[in-house]
Amino acid sequence: MSEIYDLIIIGSGPAGLSAAVYAQRAKLNTLVLEKNGMSGGQVALTYDVDNYLGFPNITGFDLSMKFKAHADALGANIIKDNVMEIKTVDTLHTVVGGKAEYVGKTVMIATGATHKKLGVDGEARLSGRGVSYCATCDGNFFRNKVVAVVGGGDTAAEDAIYLARLCKKVYLVHRRDRLRAAKSLQDKVLAMDNVEVLWDCTIESIQGGEFVEGIKVKNLITETSREIGLDGVFAAIGITPNSQSFKSSVVMDENGFIIADEECQTPTKGVFAVGDVRTKTLRQIVTAVADGAVAVHAVEQYLMVR
Ligand code: NAP
Repeated sequence: MSEIYDLIIIGSGPAGLSAAVYAQRAKLNTLVLEKNGMSGGQVALTYDVDNYLGFPNITGFDLSMKFKAHADALGANIIKDNVMEIKTVDTLHTVVGGKAEYVGKTVMIATGATHKKLGVDGEARLSGRGVSYCATCDGNFFRNKVVAVVGGGDTAAEDAIYLARLCKKVYLVHRRDRLRAAKSLQDKVLAMDNVEVLWDCTIESIQGGEFVEGIKVKNLITETSREIGLDGVFAAIGITPNSQSFKSSVVMDENGFIIADEECQTPTKGVFAVGDVRTKTLRQIVTAVADGAVAVHAVEQYLMVR
């Protein structure tokens, strides 16, 4: 019989590593599985982080290295494997990886989410250099500058409102002639003097040398294109939770986010979901880290009464 862990954490972004730190301190026999042999998740790919308490002006990469160093210092057992599935029999959960199977009394899914990409020329090259997927994280770097927000949903409207308070001008680029966002958000964003909505438009390319310098926008009705000089592009066209592997073991909402309560417990006993992959209202590093702590506390309670 293979080793039975108290807790198997899948994912080593801020939520997973925070859980690993709390689990080590709680002396739970814990295994952390990471997909790429690279901790940090989305944070590691963020150029600058400006809103994580105590670390002003730190790069996402440096912050993720600090998270990893903290978990390592406490002896976290982190190995590389790509998880395909969780199989539950009675109270034991078998985590099926590409290399091996691992058995745990509890499992914590911390696989995060991926921002949907625009898929246009210049986007990948200028990502973190003016192209951003998080207004709350990066907006401050664009004070008094000109930016574009792409999308027409709640996130795009909220981002445009947030950025309009900081920036000189915000173009809201939307592919249709009406917004999908809640009416209250629509009213707010459309009333802002420095927000210009480019209806029926898509971005064809993002231009710039070292940093973003402009966009090429196409009007889908007139089929004409024009170039606009600006400093930043915020893509707000939705995020995709990295939850596909867990379809058979947990319940998800219509967008694929794993349904879990404030203790991060899913309806599947012994299976927890933390960070961006779970249903929640604010997806930030600080809320992911908080999830890790809360969930390990819930794991301890669960193991005590089990
Ligand atoms: P969303 O509702 O899926 O909206 C995505 C927007 O991006 C849509 O307007 C869509 O256009 C557009 N879009 C999608 N793919 C595109 C592409 N390839 N090129 C250009 N535009 C594209 O995503 P979201 O705004 O991130 O919201 C996700 C969920 O979180 C929603 O359920 C939302 O209600 C919720 N949320 C709630 C709040 C809040 O309550 N305060 C805040 C943020 C998010 P179309 O409209 O043409 O489809």
